[in-house]
Amino acid sequence: MGNLGDEMKKVIQQNAWQDRYQHLIDTVMQDRYVQQFLLEHQEKITDELLEKSYAKLYEFVQERRKYDEGNPSMIAPGYEPQLFLNYRSIDVTYVPTKELLAKQEADAIKRRVKAIDIPKDVREATFDDFELTDEREYAYLECVDFVNHYIEQPKVFRQGLYLQGSFGVGKTYLLGAIANELAQSGFHTTLIHFPTFAVEMKQAIGNNSLNDKLEEVKKAPILMIDDIGADSMSAWIRDDILGVILQYRMQEQLPTFFSSNFDMEQLENQHLRQSQRGDDEPLKAKRIMERVRYLAKEIKMIGINRRIQ
Ligand code: ADP
Ligand code: MG
Repeated sequence: MGNLGDEMKKVIQQNAWQDRYQHLIDTVMQDRYVQQFLLEHQEKITDELLEKSYAKLYEFVQERRKYDEGNPSMIAPGYEPQLFLNYRSIDVTYVPTKELLAKQEADAIKRRVKAIDIPKDVREATFDDFELTDEREYAYLECVDFVNHYIEQPKVFRQGLYLQGSFGVGKTYLLGAIANELAQSGFHTTLIHFPTFAVEMKQAIGNNSLNDKLEEVKKAPILMIDDIGADSMSAWIRDDILGVILQYRMQEQLPTFFSSNFDMEQLENQHLRQSQRGDDEPLKAKRIMERVRYLAKEIKMIGINRRIQ
């Protein structure tokens, strides 16, 4: 009797399995996309070919439904499932949607800007969003001018800009906008918040990553040094980090931008001259400033403080 019971169980299980299989086939065959596909290719689709294709057709029906419902659990979100006729079976292909392609392009543009320790709103700045006032027109025009020239002749050296102005006038924002505009045309920019970068350099000595980090910044195709002069700088940062970066960029004629609350004269005499230990080092300051002046043109930005508005 035991054996008979087992046999029956098997048959029942097989039947259940058959039912399910039939149900899946029904689902597939009732699907309107499948029906249309079969109709369009009816002269080529034999029973044998169709039978071989059930698994793929089922995958298609499932994924197509999720796609139409905007369900994010799809195998390939952003890709539209489509049926196509292979040599001996029907297969599914996933075609990138226009939205996905647009997003991929936007992501690629974003990746061209390496913004380290820079606020998010600045990372999304564009010239189009730039609110223009009379006071800022000059700075803005200089920036647009740089971008246009650089796009036309990236190999020809052109001075970057040294944006000077008080807290909140929009210096960092403008740097971000330049970087993003250049990214639209395929160029890579590195934007560093200098006081934070200085701290990271000190920490990097401890974990032996100093050289890699320094090289990356030194060799960036376009470099923007934001907020130089905001924090006091050690002689080591001034001479062995900043000095080395600027020396290299001058030699290699690489575009370099700055932003600072200080103008160039103040940066030299009120910031770079005094070492943290209180020594007066006019020659060291002059050396750095020669490079800054070579690399960038000073632009004064005036205007309201946008941060407290
Ligand atoms: P700064 O670097 O000169 O201290 P920011 O660039 O950080 O000033 O600008 C201060 C604030 O004003 C930021 O929140 C920034 O997003 C906003 N902002 C600056 N310039 C513009 C602009 N032209 N259009 C819109 N928002 C701006
Ligand atoms: Mg700033």
